[in-house]
Amino acid sequence: MFYRSTRGDEKTFSSVEAIVKGIADDGGLFVPVSFPELKISLEELLKLDYKDIAFEVIHSFFDEFTEEELKGAIDKAYGKFSTPAVAPVSKVGEEFFLELYHGPTFAFKDIALTLLPYLMTMSAKKLKSDKEIVILTATSGDTGKAALEGFADVDGTRIIVFFPEEGVSEVQKLQMVTQKGKNVSVVGIEGNFDDAQRGVKEILGNDSLGELLSRNNMAFSSANSINIGRLVPQIVYYFTSYSDLIKKGEIKLGDKLNFVVPSGNFGNILAGYYAKKLGLPINNLICASNKNRVLTDFLNSGTYDKNREMYLTNSPSMDILVSSNLERYLYEICDQNPTKTKELMEALNSNGKYEIDDKMKNNLKNFFGGFCDEESTLSAIKNVYDEYDYLMDTHTAVAHHVYNQYKTKHNDETKTVIVSTASPFKFAESVCKGLEIEDKNLAEFDHIYLLAEKTNTELPDALKELKNGVRIHKNICGKNQLDSEVKKFLGLGE
Ligand SMILES: *Cc1c(COP(=O)(O)O)cnc(C)c1O
Repeated sequence: MFYRSTRGDEKTFSSVEAIVKGIADDGGLFVPVSFPELKISLEELLKLDYKDIAFEVIHSFFDEFTEEELKGAIDKAYGKFSTPAVAPVSKVGEEFFLELYHGPTFAFKDIALTLLPYLMTMSAKKLKSDKEIVILTATSGDTGKAALEGFADVDGTRIIVFFPEEGVSEVQKLQMVTQKGKNVSVVGIEGNFDDAQRGVKEILGNDSLGELLSRNNMAFSSANSINIGRLVPQIVYYFTSYSDLIKKGEIKLGDKLNFVVPSGNFGNILAGYYAKKLGLPINNLICASNKNRVLTDFLNSGTYDKNREMYLTNSPSMDILVSSNLERYLYEICDQNPTKTKELMEALNSNGKYEIDDKMKNNLKNFFGGFCDEESTLSAIKNVYDEYDYLMDTHTAVAHHVYNQYKTKHNDETKTVIVSTASPFKFAESVCKGLEIEDKNLAEFDHIYLLAEKTNTELPDALKELKNGVRIHKNICGKNQLDSEVKKFLGLGE
């Protein structure tokens, strides 16, 4: 397997090089030069359990790892989940919820970020690099903690996380700023996620900073879904949920499924598209946005326009206007033409906007885009809880609402999986608001206890303990000062 940049750099890279670099030198994202195939039949694959399906899927992309290496890593990563199913499916009424939040930090980012540190250190070893890997991460709330948890005290790595100081939930913030580990740094920025992501991409593309690191025997990489090592492990649960529905007698091999994915950076849903390319029978991929509906507008019009206000919503992990992974999809729908992809990305950079041509628009057909405002998010939580006793977090609620829109509009009876991306406790205050049980006298954080009590659900220990955590990381920086924070942390002076 070889990888190349979406933006035209002709060089190709092995999978371990792509994982360690994180992003291509020309600012593009790594994509397979030719798309892989599974080594066993779909029928055989779907009989396996989570870890074995993970091995087959991931190995088809990252074939430089030996079976022993990759299986060992998968075992360790998914042993950290609270259920052996890793990503169980719950049937609620006629819908299926694929629960991706049973990992150590209670959001779907754990699926990839429990594994990425192993992939990263194994890759560095194969490259015989003794450079310390410096992981830069921008987060809208969930990636940060999952990456910190994964990389804390991992030899040969350091990690710096930038999060919007005013744009995450209290639980998310506490999870990050209380993170222990001798190689970690967490910095709040005075800005939003897009500022954090832009700042990180700029640092990754800054040659003189790269050389400075190199002289000090270090190299940057990324734990964001711009890293192909983040994306590939996310393909797995599309297969396992399909397998689950076969095992439960809900579908037969070959039947099609829809997936509804609450989307921000387009990484999760892109993994669904890659699953489809690998041969999984998927009908439509339904991209659900919150009030920051830039993806909805793009999928419906072919024009991407980030020149708009960014709202801070009750589904903060999707408060994003520049969806990085869309670049990989654009590359696909212009017939893998890097010159074209580069043009579009340059237009986005300089005008904040681009329009795709008719041929590309035609290729958008497999995606349906819809959005959900704040109020409908809350009422979805209440409706589903009242009717089925099933608790959704705000992001999952966005997906549920958009699915209802989709059903009404398209009259599509295809069985549908709602991708459930976070534990309701991560966004407890908003969920309480939805259920109409919030208490204005309570601190935001304390809503986790209220939610547990009123819904008779068990609160995970790791969240209970947060309350007494001390804020270890107090740094806050301006949105254009990320590079000096990085130099400070690495001891490289000004
Ligand atoms: C990150 C995140 C999303 C968005 O996923 P993308 O891959 O960025 O589209 C949705 N929900 C939750 C809870 C998340 O943490």
